[in-house]
Amino acid sequence: MKKAGVDMKKIREKDQNDWESICCRCGRCCYEKIDFEGKIYYTDLPCEFLDTETKMCRVYADRDRKRPGCIRLTAAYVKEGFLPADCPYVADIENYPAPSMSDEDDSENS
Ligand code: SF4
Ligand code: SF4
Repeated sequence: MKKAGVDMKKIREKDQNDWESICCRCGRCCYEKIDFEGKIYYTDLPCEFLDTETKMCRVYADRDRKRPGCIRLTAAYVKEGFLPADCPYVADIENYPAPSMSDEDDSENS
């Protein structure tokens, strides 16, 4: 879900609360991903700590300890191509290298 009219550059310069408010809590980035020959593919397997009903992390404040490897989003990291194409953090990135979603692959192959 994109937030129309949001100046992402200015928001990125603000504090952490503003940064986190960009997230629309879709939970998609908390699904396992596979890097195959440099291309990222999403799977339909959620992180063990993702509440798939609310799409919220059940250990958010403690996620660094509970799940080493859970990466905190930074302005630099969002450009790496791990977030889905409709994530608001990547909305203003030109030629963003969006990963393939598992459901997209299904429809392409059917
Ligand atoms: S994909 Fe983007 S909007 Fe969705 S939960 Fe992750 S950071 Fe938030
Ligand atoms: S631990 Fe990290 S990857 Fe797992 S649900 Fe929480 S924020 Fe998402």
